[in-house]
Amino acid sequence: MGVNQKKTIRLKEGFWTTDSEYAEPRLIGSKCNNCGEIFFPKKEKGWCIHCQQKALEDIILSSEGKIISFSVVMQQPGGGFYFGPVPYAYGQVDLPEGVRVITIFTAKDYNDLKVGRKAKLVIDKLCDDQDGNEIMTFKFSPLV
Ligand SMILES: [Zn+2]
Repeated sequence: MGVNQKKTIRLKEGFWTTDSEYAEPRLIGSKCNNCGEIFFPKKEKGWCIHCQQKALEDIILSSEGKIISFSVVMQQPGGGFYFGPVPYAYGQVDLPEGVRVITIFTAKDYNDLKVGRKAKLVIDKLCDDQDGNEIMTFKFSPLV
């Protein structure tokens, strides 16, 4: 491996799948087989916080949803939770399964972000880490 060999690293395992079974990347949630509640991110231990039963199984979520809210951030935030470029946008997307996802938005033009507009899942670079590796995360992009 060369010294300039950069790796692509997922921000967190288990957020999404790129399994060839699906035509495009898909988020992974948990569905409760007892009460029907759906969660994202998926819950590793299998317990439903809604009905207190251990009845969760993985569910592959839709790749398109509806924008519920968004904010465009112009300055690098403090707190050490976001290291990507600014400006950036984040907010909430509702998926058809009935789960609300907190997400970063990517858009050629942030004016394309509108509440109620459809948005599509993309896997995109978040930032570089200290070694120059690319940290990848999921984002939603407005459909215009
Ligand atoms: Zn439940």
